[in-house]
Amino acid sequence: MNERWETVIGLEIHAQLSTRSKIFSGAATLYGAPPNASACAVDLGLPGVLPVINAETVRMAVSFGLSIGARIASVSVFERKNYFYPDLPKGYQISQYELPIVTDGSVEIRGTGCAPRRIHIVRAHLEEDAGKSLHEDFHGMSGIDLNRAGTPLLEIVSAPDLRSAQEAVEYARNVHELVRYLEICDGNMQEGSLRCDANVSIRPTGATELGVRTETKNVNSFRFLERAIEFEIARQIEILESGGKIVQETRLYDPDRDETRPMRQKEEANDYRYFPDPDLLPVVLDTAYIERLRAALPELPNAKRKRFAQVYDLADSDTAFLTISRELADYFETAVAAAGGHAKLVANWIMTELTGAMNRDGLVLTDVRVGPAALGRLVARIADGTISGKIAKQVFERIWREGGEPDAIIGADGLRQLTDTGAIEALVDAVIARNPDQIAQFRAGKQKVIGFLVGQVLKSSGGKANPKTVNDLLRAKLADG
Ligand code: ADP
Ligand code: MG
Repeated sequence: MNERWETVIGLEIHAQLSTRSKIFSGAATLYGAPPNASACAVDLGLPGVLPVINAETVRMAVSFGLSIGARIASVSVFERKNYFYPDLPKGYQISQYELPIVTDGSVEIRGTGCAPRRIHIVRAHLEEDAGKSLHEDFHGMSGIDLNRAGTPLLEIVSAPDLRSAQEAVEYARNVHELVRYLEICDGNMQEGSLRCDANVSIRPTGATELGVRTETKNVNSFRFLERAIEFEIARQIEILESGGKIVQETRLYDPDRDETRPMRQKEEANDYRYFPDPDLLPVVLDTAYIERLRAALPELPNAKRKRFAQVYDLADSDTAFLTISRELADYFETAVAAAGGHAKLVANWIMTELTGAMNRDGLVLTDVRVGPAALGRLVARIADGTISGKIAKQVFERIWREGGEPDAIIGADGLRQLTDTGAIEALVDAVIARNPDQIAQFRAGKQKVIGFLVGQVLKSSGGKANPKTVNDLLRAKLADG
Protein backbone atom coordinates (compact mmCIF):
# COMPACT_ATOMS: atom_id res chain seq x y z
CA MET A 1 0.00 0.00 0.00
CA ASN A 2 1.10 3.49 -0.83
CA GLU A 3 1.74 5.46 2.38
CA ARG A 4 1.12 8.88 0.90
CA TRP A 5 -2.58 8.11 0.43
CA GLU A 6 -5.31 7.13 2.83
CA THR A 7 -8.25 5.07 1.63
CA VAL A 8 -11.81 6.00 2.62
CA ILE A 9 -14.69 3.60 2.01
CA GLY A 10 -18.40 3.69 2.77
CA LEU A 11 -20.64 0.73 1.92
CA GLU A 12 -24.28 0.65 0.95
CA ILE A 13 -25.56 -2.89 1.49
CA HIS A 14 -28.86 -4.03 0.03
CA ALA A 15 -30.27 -6.91 2.03
CA GLN A 16 -33.28 -8.62 0.51
CA LEU A 17 -35.78 -9.22 3.30
CA SER A 18 -37.00 -12.79 3.46
CA THR A 19 -40.73 -12.14 3.50
CA ARG A 20 -43.11 -14.41 1.65
CA SER A 21 -44.81 -11.60 -0.22
CA LYS A 22 -43.57 -8.32 -1.65
CA ILE A 23 -43.24 -5.01 0.16
CA PHE A 24 -46.32 -3.31 -1.36
CA SER A 25 -48.23 -6.17 -2.98
CA GLY A 26 -49.45 -9.68 -2.24
CA ALA A 27 -47.36 -11.31 -5.00
CA ALA A 28 -44.93 -14.00 -3.82
CA THR A 29 -41.20 -13.29 -3.58
CA LEU A 30 -40.14 -16.35 -5.58
CA TYR A 31 -36.59 -16.78 -6.78
CA GLY A 32 -36.18 -18.45 -10.16
CA ALA A 33 -39.88 -18.43 -11.19
CA PRO A 34 -40.60 -18.11 -14.94
CA PRO A 35 -40.47 -14.45 -16.07
CA ASN A 36 -43.40 -12.37 -14.83
CA ALA A 37 -45.08 -15.37 -13.14
CA SER A 38 -44.84 -13.57 -9.82
CA ALA A 39 -45.71 -9.98 -10.70
CA CYS A 40 -49.16 -8.59 -9.99
CA ALA A 41 -50.82 -5.36 -11.09
CA VAL A 42 -49.08 -3.35 -8.35
CA ASP A 43 -45.65 -4.66 -9.39
CA LEU A 44 -46.45 -3.86 -13.02
CA GLY A 45 -47.34 -0.30 -12.06
CA LEU A 46 -50.77 -0.45 -13.69
CA PRO A 47 -52.96 2.63 -13.23
CA GLY A 48 -55.52 2.56 -10.44
CA VAL A 49 -53.70 0.19 -8.10
CA LEU A 50 -52.62 1.10 -4.58
CA PRO A 51 -49.60 -0.10 -2.62
CA VAL A 52 -50.11 -1.54 0.89
CA ILE A 53 -47.15 -1.86 3.23
CA ASN A 54 -46.19 -5.39 4.28
CA ALA A 55 -45.94 -5.23 8.10
CA GLU A 56 -43.28 -7.96 8.16
CA THR A 57 -40.83 -5.64 6.40
CA VAL A 58 -41.30 -3.06 9.14
CA ARG A 59 -40.74 -5.67 11.84
CA MET A 60 -37.54 -6.81 10.13
CA ALA A 61 -36.16 -3.31 9.66
CA VAL A 62 -36.86 -2.44 13.30
CA SER A 63 -35.23 -5.67 14.51
CA PHE A 64 -32.15 -4.82 12.49
CA GLY A 65 -32.09 -1.30 13.91
CA LEU A 66 -32.36 -2.59 17.47
CA SER A 67 -29.55 -5.09 16.87
CA ILE A 68 -27.16 -2.29 15.89
CA GLY A 69 -28.21 0.00 18.76
CA ALA A 70 -29.79 2.46 16.34
CA ARG A 71 -32.55 5.01 16.74
CA ILE A 72 -35.91 3.72 15.53
CA ALA A 73 -38.03 6.46 13.98
CA SER A 74 -41.47 6.78 15.50
CA VAL A 75 -42.53 8.24 12.15
CA SER A 76 -40.90 7.27 8.87
CA VAL A 77 -42.04 8.13 5.38
CA PHE A 78 -42.01 6.43 1.99
CA GLU A 79 -41.13 8.68 -0.90
CA ARG A 80 -41.09 8.42 -4.66
CA LYS A 81 -37.66 8.42 -6.24
CA ASN A 82 -38.39 9.38 -9.81
CA TYR A 83 -36.37 8.07 -12.70
CA PHE A 84 -37.06 6.24 -15.91
CA TYR A 85 -35.80 2.76 -16.60
CA PRO A 86 -37.45 -0.03 -18.61
CA ASP A 87 -37.51 -2.34 -15.56
CA LEU A 88 -39.33 0.29 -13.49
CA PRO A 89 -42.76 0.66 -15.15
CA LYS A 90 -44.15 3.12 -12.54
CA GLY A 91 -41.42 5.62 -13.42
CA TYR A 92 -40.43 5.84 -9.75
CA GLN A 93 -39.08 3.61 -7.00
CA ILE A 94 -40.69 3.73 -3.56
CA SER A 95 -37.96 4.29 -1.00
CA GLN A 96 -37.35 6.20 2.21
CA TYR A 97 -35.36 9.40 2.02
CA GLU A 98 -35.78 12.26 4.50
CA LEU A 99 -37.20 10.12 7.27
CA PRO A 100 -35.77 6.59 7.19
CA ILE A 101 -36.95 4.00 9.69
CA VAL A 102 -33.47 3.39 11.21
CA THR A 103 -30.73 5.94 11.88
CA ASP A 104 -27.49 6.12 13.79
CA GLY A 105 -26.35 2.66 14.77
CA SER A 106 -23.04 0.86 14.68
CA VAL A 107 -21.42 -2.53 14.39
CA GLU A 108 -18.18 -3.61 15.98
CA ILE A 109 -15.78 -5.27 13.60
CA ARG A 110 -12.83 -7.39 14.61
CA GLY A 111 -10.20 -5.75 12.46
CA THR A 112 -7.72 -7.79 10.50
CA GLY A 113 -4.67 -7.63 12.72
CA CYS A 114 -5.89 -4.44 14.39
CA ALA A 115 -8.03 -3.75 17.46
CA PRO A 116 -11.84 -4.08 17.20
CA ARG A 117 -13.44 -0.96 15.76
CA ARG A 118 -16.94 0.51 15.68
CA ILE A 119 -18.27 1.33 12.25
CA HIS A 120 -21.05 3.88 12.21
CA ILE A 121 -24.22 3.04 10.31
CA VAL A 122 -25.81 6.28 9.22
CA ARG A 123 -29.17 4.88 8.20
CA ALA A 124 -31.07 1.81 7.10
CA HIS A 125 -34.20 2.29 5.06
CA LEU A 126 -36.88 0.21 3.41
CA GLU A 127 -37.39 0.24 -0.33
CA GLU A 128 -38.61 -1.87 -3.22
CA ASP A 129 -36.38 -3.58 -5.75
CA ALA A 130 -36.79 -3.00 -9.49
CA GLY A 131 -37.34 -5.61 -12.19
CA LYS A 132 -34.73 -7.02 -14.52
CA SER A 133 -33.96 -6.56 -18.20
CA LEU A 134 -33.10 -9.79 -19.95
CA HIS A 135 -30.87 -9.38 -22.96
CA GLU A 136 -31.28 -12.91 -24.15
CA ASP A 137 -32.25 -14.11 -27.56
CA PHE A 138 -35.77 -12.70 -27.98
CA HIS A 139 -35.48 -12.30 -31.74
CA GLY A 140 -33.03 -9.46 -31.25
CA MET A 141 -35.17 -7.77 -28.57
CA SER A 142 -34.75 -7.43 -24.82
CA GLY A 143 -37.29 -8.78 -22.36
CA ILE A 144 -38.44 -7.38 -19.02
CA ASP A 145 -38.97 -9.68 -16.04
CA LEU A 146 -40.86 -7.99 -13.22
CA ASN A 147 -40.73 -10.88 -10.72
CA ARG A 148 -38.14 -9.00 -8.68
CA ALA A 149 -40.08 -5.72 -8.83
CA GLY A 150 -41.42 -4.95 -5.36
CA THR A 151 -39.09 -7.34 -3.54
CA PRO A 152 -38.43 -5.76 -0.12
CA LEU A 153 -34.94 -4.41 0.46
CA LEU A 154 -33.26 -2.96 3.52
CA GLU A 155 -30.55 -0.57 2.40
CA ILE A 156 -27.88 -0.27 5.08
CA VAL A 157 -25.62 2.76 4.66
CA SER A 158 -22.33 3.02 6.53
CA ALA A 159 -20.45 6.21 7.28
CA PRO A 160 -17.18 6.60 5.35
CA ASP A 161 -15.41 4.92 8.28
CA LEU A 162 -13.68 2.04 6.53
CA ARG A 163 -9.99 2.38 5.72
CA SER A 164 -9.04 -0.64 3.64
CA ALA A 165 -10.54 -3.27 1.37
CA GLN A 166 -10.01 -5.86 4.10
CA GLU A 167 -11.82 -3.73 6.64
CA ALA A 168 -14.71 -3.18 4.23
CA VAL A 169 -15.01 -6.94 3.72
CA GLU A 170 -14.89 -7.54 7.46
CA TYR A 171 -17.69 -5.02 7.95
CA ALA A 172 -19.77 -6.57 5.16
CA ARG A 173 -19.26 -10.02 6.68
CA ASN A 174 -20.50 -8.72 10.01
CA VAL A 175 -23.64 -7.25 8.48
CA HIS A 176 -24.19 -10.49 6.57
CA GLU A 177 -23.83 -12.52 9.77
CA LEU A 178 -26.17 -10.18 11.62
CA VAL A 179 -29.03 -10.31 9.09
CA ARG A 180 -28.77 -14.09 9.05
CA TYR A 181 -28.85 -14.30 12.85
CA LEU A 182 -31.93 -12.11 12.82
CA GLU A 183 -33.40 -14.35 10.11
CA ILE A 184 -34.45 -11.33 8.10
CA CYS A 185 -32.34 -12.16 5.01
CA ASP A 186 -31.09 -15.50 3.73
CA GLY A 187 -27.73 -13.95 2.85
CA ASN A 188 -27.47 -15.88 -0.42
CA MET A 189 -25.12 -13.61 -2.32
CA GLN A 190 -25.07 -15.69 -5.51
CA GLU A 191 -28.81 -15.15 -5.82
CA GLY A 192 -28.34 -11.47 -5.08
CA SER A 193 -29.99 -11.54 -1.64
CA LEU A 194 -27.19 -9.34 -0.33
CA ARG A 195 -25.38 -6.89 -2.60
CA CYS A 196 -22.81 -4.23 -1.83
CA ASP A 197 -22.18 -0.84 -3.40
CA ALA A 198 -18.66 0.29 -2.56
CA ASN A 199 -17.99 4.03 -2.34
CA VAL A 200 -14.25 4.54 -2.55
CA SER A 201 -12.07 7.63 -2.40
CA ILE A 202 -8.51 8.40 -1.44
CA ARG A 203 -6.94 11.48 0.13
CA PRO A 204 -3.44 12.53 1.11
CA THR A 205 -2.53 10.87 4.40
CA GLY A 206 -3.35 13.28 7.23
CA ALA A 207 -5.95 15.25 5.23
CA THR A 208 -9.32 15.78 6.90
CA GLU A 209 -11.50 16.50 3.87
CA LEU A 210 -12.87 13.61 1.88
CA GLY A 211 -11.69 12.99 -1.65
CA VAL A 212 -13.95 12.59 -4.68
CA ARG A 213 -15.48 9.12 -4.65
CA THR A 214 -16.62 6.55 -7.12
CA GLU A 215 -19.36 4.05 -6.42
CA THR A 216 -18.94 0.46 -7.61
CA LYS A 217 -22.40 -1.08 -7.81
CA ASN A 218 -23.92 -4.45 -7.01
CA VAL A 219 -20.92 -6.47 -5.95
CA ASN A 220 -22.24 -9.88 -4.95
CA SER A 221 -19.36 -11.71 -3.29
CA PHE A 222 -16.88 -10.82 -0.55
CA ARG A 223 -13.97 -11.77 -2.77
CA PHE A 224 -15.19 -9.52 -5.58
CA LEU A 225 -15.77 -6.73 -3.07
CA GLU A 226 -12.15 -6.92 -1.94
CA ARG A 227 -10.85 -7.07 -5.52
CA ALA A 228 -13.10 -4.24 -6.75
CA ILE A 229 -11.97 -1.94 -3.94
CA GLU A 230 -8.29 -2.85 -4.39
CA PHE A 231 -8.59 -2.13 -8.10
CA GLU A 232 -10.32 1.18 -7.47
CA ILE A 233 -7.72 2.32 -4.91
CA ALA A 234 -4.85 1.58 -7.30
CA ARG A 235 -6.65 3.28 -10.20
CA GLN A 236 -7.36 6.44 -8.19
CA ILE A 237 -3.81 6.66 -6.84
CA GLU A 238 -2.43 6.37 -10.34
CA ILE A 239 -4.70 9.15 -11.64
CA LEU A 240 -3.93 11.54 -8.78
CA GLU A 241 -0.20 10.87 -8.85
CA SER A 242 -0.04 11.65 -12.54
CA GLY A 243 -1.82 14.97 -11.94
CA GLY A 244 -5.30 13.90 -13.05
CA LYS A 245 -8.69 14.29 -11.36
CA ILE A 246 -11.14 11.66 -10.11
CA VAL A 247 -14.59 11.92 -11.68
CA GLN A 248 -17.50 11.12 -9.40
CA GLU A 249 -19.23 8.27 -11.17
CA THR A 250 -20.89 4.91 -10.88
CA ARG A 251 -18.76 1.94 -11.91
CA LEU A 252 -19.24 -1.79 -12.39
CA TYR A 253 -16.85 -4.55 -11.36
CA ASP A 254 -16.10 -7.17 -14.00
CA PRO A 255 -14.86 -10.33 -12.28
CA ASP A 256 -13.61 -11.88 -15.53
CA ARG A 257 -11.21 -9.03 -16.19
CA ASP A 258 -10.78 -8.12 -12.50
CA GLU A 259 -11.38 -4.42 -13.10
CA THR A 260 -14.01 -1.74 -12.58
CA ARG A 261 -15.45 0.16 -15.54
CA PRO A 262 -17.52 3.34 -15.68
CA MET A 263 -21.28 2.79 -15.93
CA ARG A 264 -22.73 6.27 -15.66
CA GLN A 265 -21.86 9.64 -14.18
CA LYS A 266 -23.59 10.07 -10.85
CA GLU A 267 -26.77 12.07 -11.16
CA GLU A 268 -27.35 14.84 -8.69
CA ALA A 269 -29.63 13.58 -5.91
CA ASN A 270 -32.23 16.27 -6.70
CA ASP A 271 -32.68 14.87 -10.18
CA TYR A 272 -34.78 12.21 -8.49
CA ARG A 273 -37.40 14.77 -7.43
CA TYR A 274 -38.17 12.90 -4.22
CA PHE A 275 -41.55 13.56 -2.63
CA PRO A 276 -43.67 11.66 -0.08
CA ASP A 277 -45.73 8.98 -1.76
CA PRO A 278 -49.36 10.16 -1.45
CA ASP A 279 -50.57 6.56 -1.73
CA LEU A 280 -48.84 5.48 1.48
CA LEU A 281 -49.37 6.66 5.03
CA PRO A 282 -46.34 7.43 7.18
CA VAL A 283 -45.20 4.42 9.21
CA VAL A 284 -46.01 5.25 12.84
CA LEU A 285 -44.54 3.03 15.56
CA ASP A 286 -45.25 3.15 19.26
CA THR A 287 -42.85 2.31 22.06
CA ALA A 288 -44.69 -0.85 23.07
CA TYR A 289 -44.25 -2.29 19.57
CA ILE A 290 -40.55 -1.45 19.52
CA GLU A 291 -40.00 -2.88 23.01
CA ARG A 292 -41.79 -6.07 22.05
CA LEU A 293 -39.38 -6.51 19.16
CA ARG A 294 -36.41 -5.69 21.38
CA ALA A 295 -37.46 -8.45 23.79
CA ALA A 296 -37.80 -10.89 20.89
CA LEU A 297 -34.26 -10.33 19.54
CA PRO A 298 -32.16 -13.50 19.44
CA GLU A 299 -28.76 -13.64 21.07
CA LEU A 300 -26.50 -11.75 18.65
CA PRO A 301 -23.15 -12.97 17.32
CA ASN A 302 -20.86 -10.87 19.53
CA ALA A 303 -22.80 -11.72 22.69
CA LYS A 304 -22.78 -15.38 21.74
CA ARG A 305 -19.02 -15.33 21.19
CA LYS A 306 -18.44 -13.78 24.60
CA ARG A 307 -20.71 -16.30 26.28
CA PHE A 308 -19.11 -19.27 24.51
CA ALA A 309 -15.65 -18.08 25.57
CA GLN A 310 -16.78 -17.81 29.20
CA VAL A 311 -19.13 -20.75 29.62
CA TYR A 312 -17.21 -23.27 27.53
CA ASP A 313 -13.72 -21.90 28.13
CA LEU A 314 -12.86 -21.86 24.43
CA ALA A 315 -10.22 -19.95 22.46
CA ASP A 316 -11.27 -17.00 20.28
CA SER A 317 -10.60 -18.96 17.10
CA ASP A 318 -12.96 -21.72 18.30
CA THR A 319 -15.78 -19.38 19.30
CA ALA A 320 -15.40 -17.44 16.03
CA PHE A 321 -15.82 -20.67 14.09
CA LEU A 322 -18.70 -22.06 16.14
CA THR A 323 -20.75 -18.86 15.95
CA ILE A 324 -20.53 -18.42 12.18
CA SER A 325 -24.23 -19.20 12.05
CA ARG A 326 -26.99 -19.68 14.58
CA GLU A 327 -27.52 -23.24 13.33
CA LEU A 328 -23.89 -24.19 13.95
CA ALA A 329 -23.88 -22.55 17.38
CA ASP A 330 -27.08 -24.42 18.31
CA TYR A 331 -25.61 -27.66 16.99
CA PHE A 332 -22.56 -27.16 19.21
CA GLU A 333 -24.60 -26.45 22.34
CA THR A 334 -26.89 -29.43 21.80
CA ALA A 335 -23.87 -31.68 21.25
CA VAL A 336 -22.15 -30.46 24.42
CA ALA A 337 -25.32 -31.12 26.41
CA ALA A 338 -25.54 -34.66 24.99
CA ALA A 339 -21.85 -35.27 25.71
CA GLY A 340 -22.30 -34.08 29.29
CA GLY A 341 -19.58 -31.44 28.81
CA HIS A 342 -16.23 -31.90 27.04
CA ALA A 343 -16.81 -28.66 25.13
CA LYS A 344 -13.31 -28.48 23.67
CA LEU A 345 -13.48 -32.04 22.36
CA VAL A 346 -16.93 -31.42 20.88
CA ALA A 347 -15.64 -28.21 19.27
CA ASN A 348 -12.70 -30.10 17.74
CA TRP A 349 -14.98 -32.75 16.32
CA ILE A 350 -17.23 -30.13 14.78
CA MET A 351 -14.35 -28.15 13.31
CA THR A 352 -12.48 -31.15 11.88
CA GLU A 353 -14.59 -34.29 11.29
CA LEU A 354 -18.00 -32.73 10.80
CA THR A 355 -16.84 -29.73 8.76
CA GLY A 356 -14.42 -31.91 6.79
CA ALA A 357 -17.16 -34.36 5.85
CA MET A 358 -19.56 -31.53 4.96
CA ASN A 359 -16.97 -29.95 2.66
CA ARG A 360 -16.04 -33.30 1.15
CA ASP A 361 -19.64 -34.19 0.31
CA GLY A 362 -20.90 -30.67 -0.32
CA LEU A 363 -23.58 -30.81 2.38
CA VAL A 364 -24.96 -28.08 4.61
CA LEU A 365 -25.63 -28.59 8.31
CA THR A 366 -29.35 -29.10 7.95
CA ASP A 367 -28.74 -32.03 5.56
CA VAL A 368 -26.28 -34.10 7.58
CA ARG A 369 -27.21 -37.42 9.19
CA VAL A 370 -24.95 -37.00 12.20
CA GLY A 371 -27.20 -34.93 14.43
CA PRO A 372 -25.82 -32.95 17.38
CA ALA A 373 -27.07 -35.46 19.98
CA ALA A 374 -25.38 -38.36 18.17
CA LEU A 375 -22.13 -36.44 17.87
CA GLY A 376 -22.32 -35.55 21.57
CA ARG A 377 -22.84 -39.18 22.60
CA LEU A 378 -19.97 -40.24 20.37
CA VAL A 379 -17.68 -37.70 22.04
CA ALA A 380 -18.85 -38.95 25.45
CA ARG A 381 -17.69 -42.47 24.52
CA ILE A 382 -14.24 -41.13 23.61
CA ALA A 383 -14.10 -39.11 26.80
CA ASP A 384 -15.03 -42.07 29.04
CA GLY A 385 -12.52 -44.35 27.31
CA THR A 386 -15.03 -46.71 25.70
CA ILE A 387 -13.56 -46.13 22.26
CA SER A 388 -10.39 -44.55 20.90
CA GLY A 389 -10.43 -41.41 18.80
CA LYS A 390 -9.50 -43.50 15.81
CA ILE A 391 -12.43 -45.89 16.22
CA ALA A 392 -14.68 -42.91 16.84
CA LYS A 393 -13.82 -41.68 13.34
CA GLN A 394 -15.03 -44.99 11.91
CA VAL A 395 -18.25 -44.78 13.91
CA PHE A 396 -18.70 -41.20 12.73
CA GLU A 397 -18.27 -42.20 9.09
CA ARG A 398 -20.79 -44.96 9.51
CA ILE A 399 -23.41 -42.63 11.02
CA TRP A 400 -22.53 -40.06 8.37
CA ARG A 401 -23.42 -42.54 5.64
CA GLU A 402 -26.19 -44.61 7.20
CA GLY A 403 -27.43 -42.81 10.29
CA GLY A 404 -27.70 -44.64 13.61
CA GLU A 405 -26.75 -44.37 17.26
CA PRO A 406 -23.12 -44.39 18.45
CA ASP A 407 -23.73 -46.80 21.35
CA ALA A 408 -25.62 -49.28 19.19
CA ILE A 409 -22.87 -49.27 16.55
CA ILE A 410 -20.08 -49.58 19.12
CA GLY A 411 -21.85 -52.52 20.79
CA ALA A 412 -22.84 -54.36 17.62
CA ASP A 413 -19.46 -54.06 15.96
CA GLY A 414 -17.36 -54.90 19.02
CA LEU A 415 -15.48 -51.64 18.77
CA ARG A 416 -14.95 -51.14 22.47
CA GLN A 417 -11.46 -50.14 23.34
CA LEU A 418 -9.30 -53.00 24.71
CA THR A 419 -8.54 -51.97 28.24
CA ASP A 420 -7.87 -55.50 29.45
CA THR A 421 -4.13 -55.35 30.14
CA GLY A 422 -3.68 -59.09 29.64
CA ALA A 423 -5.00 -58.97 26.08
CA ILE A 424 -2.92 -55.93 25.21
CA GLU A 425 0.16 -57.50 26.76
CA ALA A 426 -0.12 -60.46 24.38
CA LEU A 427 -0.18 -58.06 21.42
CA VAL A 428 2.80 -56.15 22.80
CA ASP A 429 4.80 -59.36 23.23
CA ALA A 430 4.03 -60.37 19.67
CA VAL A 431 5.19 -57.03 18.29
CA ILE A 432 8.41 -57.20 20.33
CA ALA A 433 9.08 -60.67 19.00
CA ARG A 434 8.48 -59.57 15.41
CA ASN A 435 10.71 -56.49 15.49
CA PRO A 436 14.15 -57.38 16.89
CA ASP A 437 15.93 -54.64 14.87
CA GLN A 438 13.75 -51.85 16.22
CA ILE A 439 14.07 -53.18 19.77
CA ALA A 440 17.85 -53.10 19.41
CA GLN A 441 17.70 -49.53 18.10
CA PHE A 442 15.54 -48.47 21.01
CA ARG A 443 17.90 -50.02 23.53
CA ALA A 444 20.79 -48.26 21.78
CA GLY A 445 19.06 -44.98 22.71
CA LYS A 446 16.89 -44.26 19.67
CA GLN A 447 13.77 -43.23 21.61
CA LYS A 448 11.76 -42.40 18.53
CA VAL A 449 11.35 -46.06 17.63
CA ILE A 450 8.78 -46.38 20.42
CA GLY A 451 6.27 -44.53 18.24
CA PHE A 452 6.65 -47.13 15.51
CA LEU A 453 6.20 -49.99 17.99
CA VAL A 454 3.09 -48.42 19.55
CA GLY A 455 1.70 -48.03 16.04
CA GLN A 456 2.30 -51.72 15.31
CA VAL A 457 0.46 -52.80 18.46
CA LEU A 458 -2.47 -50.47 17.75
CA LYS A 459 -2.65 -51.80 14.22
CA SER A 460 -2.68 -55.42 15.35
CA SER A 461 -5.52 -54.56 17.76
CA GLY A 462 -7.58 -53.11 14.91
CA GLY A 463 -7.28 -49.69 16.53
CA LYS A 464 -9.01 -50.88 19.68
CA ALA A 465 -6.11 -50.96 22.12
CA ASN A 466 -5.83 -47.96 24.40
CA PRO A 467 -2.75 -46.05 23.15
CA LYS A 468 -1.68 -45.03 26.64
CA THR A 469 -1.85 -48.56 27.99
CA VAL A 470 0.16 -49.78 25.00
CA ASN A 471 2.77 -47.12 25.52
CA ASP A 472 3.11 -47.87 29.24
CA LEU A 473 3.33 -51.63 28.69
CA LEU A 474 5.90 -51.34 25.92
CA ARG A 475 8.16 -49.05 27.94
CA ALA A 476 7.87 -51.28 30.99
CA LYS A 477 8.77 -54.40 29.02
CA LEU A 478 11.68 -52.80 27.19
CA ALA A 479 13.05 -51.40 30.42
CA ASP A 480 12.79 -54.83 32.12
CA GLY A 481 14.34 -56.91 29.52
P1 ADP B 1 -25.58 9.67 -1.97
O1 ADP B 1 -26.62 10.61 -1.49
O2 ADP B 1 -24.89 10.09 -3.21
O3 ADP B 1 -26.02 8.24 -2.00
P2 ADP B 1 -24.45 9.46 0.63
O4 ADP B 1 -23.97 10.65 1.38
O5 ADP B 1 -25.75 8.85 1.00
O6 ADP B 1 -24.41 9.77 -0.91
O7 ADP B 1 -23.33 8.37 0.76
C1 ADP B 1 -23.46 7.13 0.17
C2 ADP B 1 -22.33 6.27 0.67
O8 ADP B 1 -21.08 6.79 0.22
C3 ADP B 1 -22.21 6.17 2.16
O9 ADP B 1 -21.92 4.83 2.52
C4 ADP B 1 -21.06 7.06 2.52
O10 ADP B 1 -20.36 6.62 3.65
C5 ADP B 1 -20.18 6.93 1.29
N1 ADP B 1 -19.35 8.10 1.01
C6 ADP B 1 -19.75 9.38 0.94
N2 ADP B 1 -18.72 10.19 0.60
C7 ADP B 1 -17.63 9.39 0.46
C8 ADP B 1 -16.26 9.61 0.13
N3 ADP B 1 -15.79 10.82 -0.17
N4 ADP B 1 -15.44 8.53 0.09
C9 ADP B 1 -15.89 7.30 0.35
N5 ADP B 1 -17.17 7.05 0.67
C10 ADP B 1 -18.04 8.06 0.72
MG1 MG C 1 -27.24 6.66 -1.30
